[in-house]
Amino acid sequence: MMADIRTLIQDRKIRYLLCSFVELTGAPKAKLVPATHFEDLVREGAGFAGFAAGDLNQGPHDPDVISMPDMQRAMVLPWRKDVAWVPGNLHVDGAPWPYCPRTVLARQLEAAGQRGYTFHVGVEPEFMLLKKDGEEFRPWDPLDSAAKPCYDLRALYRNLDVMTTLLEYMQELGWGPYANDHEDANCQFEINWTYADAITTADRHVFFRWMVKTVAEQHGLYATFMPKPFAHLTGNGAHFHMSLAGEDGGNLFLDEKDDLGLSQTARWFMGGLLHHARALSAIVAPLVNSYKRLIRGAPRSGATWAPVYVTYGRSNRTQMIRIPGPGRIEARAVDGAANPYLACTALLAAGLDGIDHRIDPGEANHDNLYELPEEELRRRNIGFLPTTLREALDCLQHDEVLTRALGNGYADYYVRVKLEEWRNYHQTISRWELDHYLVNF
Ligand code: GLU
Ligand code: MG
Repeated sequence: MMADIRTLIQDRKIRYLLCSFVELTGAPKAKLVPATHFEDLVREGAGFAGFAAGDLNQGPHDPDVISMPDMQRAMVLPWRKDVAWVPGNLHVDGAPWPYCPRTVLARQLEAAGQRGYTFHVGVEPEFMLLKKDGEEFRPWDPLDSAAKPCYDLRALYRNLDVMTTLLEYMQELGWGPYANDHEDANCQFEINWTYADAITTADRHVFFRWMVKTVAEQHGLYATFMPKPFAHLTGNGAHFHMSLAGEDGGNLFLDEKDDLGLSQTARWFMGGLLHHARALSAIVAPLVNSYKRLIRGAPRSGATWAPVYVTYGRSNRTQMIRIPGPGRIEARAVDGAANPYLACTALLAAGLDGIDHRIDPGEANHDNLYELPEEELRRRNIGFLPTTLREALDCLQHDEVLTRALGNGYADYYVRVKLEEWRNYHQTISRWELDHYLVNF
């Protein structure tokens, strides 16, 4: 292995390695290591003060967390070809650290692997390009002001440099990007690339968010994946498309004869997603702000395109789960702030539980769920997704399948960190409250 890495470094003329990992929020952290020291790095990893690095359940008195680089998955930066980014898994005192999200996912994938499953995931990350105007960040392009800006050719074309740069970088990285569009909010975009196994996609998703921010900054802009930065515009989703492959590589979710193109296994998987949906939300929609995206109230474009209910349907974008085509299912509650490793872990665990317990997803929905009257929702027993982070965390705490998948210690820690975030938010007074209450009460 050491020889392969040496060859890679020599052939690609790599001079620096960005030895990286993520903590709870999914934001990448790194140390820059000259490639002259790659052997030490591979053997010993790179050390970090865990308390300083974010939410890793470490105090300032604790021993270092060590990122052990996964050199096989190194990515050479297309904009600095002498530097490679290397994702890693954290260890403390020589043992895997259970508070490392990438390790949490690896463990869940191993459980799936023991049953002969490979988890395939594709992601659709949406982002907005902004500029600072005084104290405020705003969509950067004043001409991109249509109420329905989705697929707008002229607005897309004004961002051609940023978009083609990103597409070329992704081609160079070998991700197989195949589409880029202007999304439903002003200055909002999405780029799609080919799905892969969950670790590959999660690493790429982390890298993608950094790459988009980097390229935007090179163009004097700021990119955000924040779930709902502007109340009057649709938010930033990161829909996850999922399927399971069997040992022969065949798609276990595909049944050409089924009306939705889904096998029984896929339907049970979906049953699991619906059953655990409320607890899942705490992971796939992880911020206070996430729940301001999961609403029915229409932004300027007419629809949020984000789910509100625990439902599934054919290619119907008002559902929590959409079946975009045969052989795969799309989870639409996931947003731009989700930690890709934790989101994959939770979605897979919920789906596998569905398969284990043969959970029936029930009938598909075909309606515009944003418009279905309350009585009809009740008659069909359609449940709501949580409306706040607090509610989602309560559900997660009581969900044994998801807490076990995250690791009981990690689930408790996650809830603790996120409840603190909720408390911090709750201790602030918003403009809305002052406008509505100050004079009237
Ligand atoms: N931006 C929407 C969301 O927040 C999704 C729009 C789409 O279907 O691509 O999920
Ligand atoms: Mg989209």
